[in-house]
Amino acid sequence: MKFSQTFIPTLREVPGDAVIVSHRLMLRAALLRRLANGLFAYLPLGLRSFRKVEQIIREEMDAAGALEFKPPVVVPGEIWKESGRWETMGEGMLRFKNRLNADFVISPTAEEAFTAILRDEISSYRQLPLTGYQIKKYRDEIRPRYGVMRGREFTMKDAYSYHANEESLEKTYQDMGRAYRRIFKRCGLTVIPVRADTGAMGGTGSEEFMVESEIGDNTLILCKTCDYAANVEKAACKDDFERRSIDEAKAAAENIPSIKKIDTPSVKTIDELCRFLKTGAKQFIKTLIYRAENVELDLTGAPGASTLERKSPAPDAPKMYPEAFFAVLIRGDLDVNEVKLAAAVKASEVSLASDEDVIRLTGAPVGFAGPVGLTSLPIIADYSVTSINDGVTGALEKDTHYEHAAFGRDFEPFMLTDVRTVKAGDTCIHCGAALYEKKGNELGHIFKLGYKYTASMNFTYLDEEGKSHKPAMGCYGIGVDRTLASIIEEHHDDDGIVWPMTTAPFHVVVIAIKYDGAVKAAADKLVSELETLGVEVLLDDRDERPGVKFKDADLIGIPLRVVVGEKNLPKVEVKRRIEKENRLVEISAAADELSRIVKEELAALNS
Ligand SMILES: [Zn+2]
Repeated sequence: MKFSQTFIPTLREVPGDAVIVSHRLMLRAALLRRLANGLFAYLPLGLRSFRKVEQIIREEMDAAGALEFKPPVVVPGEIWKESGRWETMGEGMLRFKNRLNADFVISPTAEEAFTAILRDEISSYRQLPLTGYQIKKYRDEIRPRYGVMRGREFTMKDAYSYHANEESLEKTYQDMGRAYRRIFKRCGLTVIPVRADTGAMGGTGSEEFMVESEIGDNTLILCKTCDYAANVEKAACKDDFERRSIDEAKAAAENIPSIKKIDTPSVKTIDELCRFLKTGAKQFIKTLIYRAENVELDLTGAPGASTLERKSPAPDAPKMYPEAFFAVLIRGDLDVNEVKLAAAVKASEVSLASDEDVIRLTGAPVGFAGPVGLTSLPIIADYSVTSINDGVTGALEKDTHYEHAAFGRDFEPFMLTDVRTVKAGDTCIHCGAALYEKKGNELGHIFKLGYKYTASMNFTYLDEEGKSHKPAMGCYGIGVDRTLASIIEEHHDDDGIVWPMTTAPFHVVVIAIKYDGAVKAAADKLVSELETLGVEVLLDDRDERPGVKFKDADLIGIPLRVVVGEKNLPKVEVKRRIEKENRLVEISAAADELSRIVKEELAALNS
């Protein structure tokens, strides 16, 4: 490929809106251009690397026995209504009506599409297991930023597997985990595998693949000594208190004075209160009022829940409360983790209640909520509260608190659970060492879904005895653009990108100092020899100064550079992008040597 005949409009200036390295370099090296906020076009050079990442993913999926499908990008709203997610997907899903007023969705994910396609085709256990995948999806990202790291339109590989039993699901889940490790290795990426089962959720069926990134969406909690790695959303730590049952707590409160209401005028924050009462935040029972959406937790008999509306979004979907409020208790020095809370109450979303809701539900201004005498909503208590037997908490009245409040004696929760946000410095649940934090971006996620979609969308098969069952399901996603951007985040220097051989747009760039006469003849011959050997070559034939060509070659980051100039012929300069020094090689031997290096580097990454 000749530089003059392709389209590589490199930029010297750093585009102002590009904050992170990969975004800057993808624009400067002419891999990408922005069409609108969060919407990018790959230019020919970028598309070459994009296709290579996509192909690595495709090869590993195929090797793991998954079959590629191509569902439409536009899918009917009907199947989303069947699964119940028409109601729960929120603003990130782009919906529209066509001229016949029918609902459609620009597919953000394809559980519904695959389940709808396969339920009509699969009727017997003999047809299972089956894993299908697609490469494409769209999400109407609310806060697009960081280039393709978080775009609106983005490409993902999604695979979905269907199984006649849990063992079969487990096998495919493990195969996919191995395939993912191979994909990232082949791309030259260092990933941190984060298992959900190392956290508080208890399950064994989920693993995220993260890359370290200063602008990561995720906070990772890692252990200094063992391999514990968890997303902060799910991270657990060793208790720094004694976890007590209601009876144990009652016994522990035996010699504690009775609960007493005290005046706390113009004291608002926990800090002010601690100073006022000369006590520590650990003695304080913090009470936060949360609003939750689409709550599947059964609240029958819970305080304040008798008037809540409960409905089913689809005939076979679980019943849920479209809106419910909870009082969440946690020790004063700790913070509530909203993802853990949402999981505990089985809600699609939780957020702090508005001031108006707090006043309506607690009968007091914001800042005086407390569990004692609270009957208007269910109480969810973090385990940390169970050890507080002489605590301070809001008294549901302006400028008043309770002291000597004891868990179990003075109040009982509707649910006890772990909603604590784990922080750096907390103690590793496995080995007891200190935990630390890192920012990370999720590149991939493998997940045992279970029966959620096959149940709500009525997908059944018959077993050997002719009995009807629903298949168990797994899902496996990986972001193609994100993986590409992450390769650049990990492989660059001050001059530009430093591509690993597997995903470089070209293996070799041949720079002709002055593309004319003997130099032209030598460069053309070398390119032709390399191409015959299967090496992908970009020939810089432009009528530009050598300095410009060198700068572009470094910026674009092609792994091997050959300079053909009159001065050195019949020798040429060969330089690896990762090295500073070049060396002279006889042009007659150059093609074989370059081809050998390309093949070795490909083999090392692909092994
Ligand atoms: Zn540890």
